[in-house]
Amino acid sequence: MSEARRAAVVAVGDELLRGDCVDSNSGEIARRLAQLGIEVEQFLVLGDDRRLLAKAFAELCSAHAIVIATGGLGPTLDDVTREAAADAARVPLETDATVLAELEARWQARGQPMPASNARQAQRPAGSQLMPNARGTAPGFRAWIEGGMLAALPGPPGEMRHMLESELLPWIERTCGRGEGLVSQSFFLAGLAESAFADRAGDWMERGANPRMGVTAHFGVLRVTLRAKAETQRGASDLLAARCAEFRARFAAEIFSEDEPRLELALGRTLLEGGWSVTTAESCTGGLVARLLTDAPGISAVYREGWVTYSDEAKVARLGVPRELIAAHGAVSGEVAAAMAAGAARASGARAALATTGVAGPGGGTATKPVGLVWLGLALDGAVQTRELRLAQVGRDSIRLYAAYAALELLRRALQRAAPRTD
Ligand code: ATP
Repeated sequence: MSEARRAAVVAVGDELLRGDCVDSNSGEIARRLAQLGIEVEQFLVLGDDRRLLAKAFAELCSAHAIVIATGGLGPTLDDVTREAAADAARVPLETDATVLAELEARWQARGQPMPASNARQAQRPAGSQLMPNARGTAPGFRAWIEGGMLAALPGPPGEMRHMLESELLPWIERTCGRGEGLVSQSFFLAGLAESAFADRAGDWMERGANPRMGVTAHFGVLRVTLRAKAETQRGASDLLAARCAEFRARFAAEIFSEDEPRLELALGRTLLEGGWSVTTAESCTGGLVARLLTDAPGISAVYREGWVTYSDEAKVARLGVPRELIAAHGAVSGEVAAAMAAGAARASGARAALATTGVAGPGGGTATKPVGLVWLGLALDGAVQTRELRLAQVGRDSIRLYAAYAALELLRRALQRAAPRTD
C-alpha cells in the first residue's frame, strides 16, 4: 500500500477529554475504512480548541491522504471544527445560502424562528464541498488542506454513521478507488496464556512482520488478527492465505473458531451439531458455567438442567458425592470434582457433565489450598477427567470467570478429541 492511502481520525470534543463520553466514532470509522483497504494510522482526541485543532488538521493532512474529524459542528461558539479547518486551509469561512435557507425552513416547519446561532452551521471553509446531514442540523464538509482531504462529520454517532455511509465512503471509493492490498483474518483460541502464545508464534509477532499479527486476551480467550499488505489485493490475499495455513497447523488444538469470538457460543454450536447432551455441577463458579452455556441459542436441545451445589451437604445430597471423599480430600480437590461430574452425569443422564470446585477468595485460602486454586471435573460418556487451575490473585469475580471459561475449554478439547475435525 502506498503512503498516500493512509488515513487518520480525529475525535473532537471537550466531553471526550473530560471522560464524560467515550470515543466510539474513531473505531467505527477505522473498521469501515479497513473494509475499503484503507489503513488508519492514528487516532487523535482533541478538545474544542480552535488553535490546536487547526495545527493538528494541517499536520495530519500533510502526512495522510484522508483525515476524518468527528464533532464540533454544532451551532454554539464552543463548536470550532469549521473555523479550525478554515484556518488550516488558510481560507475564510463562507456561508452556503442553500444550506441557510434549508435550516431556516426546518425551523419554520417547527413554527419557530431560527436562533441566530444556527446560522453558523451554514458556514464552511471556502472551496470545501458540502456533505448534507439527513439526520441532524449540522452539515459536514470535505476540505483540501496541505495535499490531504479533511472530512468533517458530526459528533453524534447516529448522524456520523449516516453521513459516513451515505456521503463520505461512496465519495472515497469513487475518487480514490478501493485501497489495494490490505486483507485480514481473525482466529479465536482458548487454553493458552498470551505469553505462551507469543512464545509459540515466535517471529510471526515481530513488529515488521507481514502479515502483521495482533493479539488481545479476555479471560483465557485470545483473538489473533493477521493483516497482510501488498501492492495488490491478490498479493496480499496470497500472503495471508499462506500464513493462515501455517497458523491453523501450528495452533490446531487451540483454535476454536475463525468467526465466533465467544467460546461459549462456539462450544454450544459443537454440542448441538454433535447431539451432545450436557449438564453442570458448580460450586465456586456459582452457576456461571450454566449461564455461559445457556447464552448459546437453541442450547435447550442439549442442556436440560444443572446444579449449584455450594455446600458439602448439597454435593452429597444432590450429586451423591461420598461424604468420606470430602472428609478425606476436602471439597476443593480433584477427587471431589471428579465425583461431582460423575454424579451430575448420573443424575441427569447427560453424556457430558462439567464440575467446578475451588477457592474464589478473598478469604478462605490456606497454605495448601490458596485463593485461586480451582479443580475442574469432566465426565464424558462415562470417562472422568480432572484439571487443576492455579489462578493468580486477580479478585473473586475474575477468578470465577477464568474458572468458568477453563471449564468450557476442558469440555471443548474433550469433544475435539472425541470427534476430530475433518476440515
Ligand atoms: P451537535 O450539533 O449535536 O452539537 P456536533 O458535531 O457539534 O453536533 P458534538 O457537540 O461534538 O457534535 O457532540 C455531540 C454529542 O455526540 C456528544 O455529546 C456525544 O454524546 C456524541 N459524540 C461526540 N463525539 C463522539 C465520539 N467521538 N464518539 C462517541 N460519541 C460522540
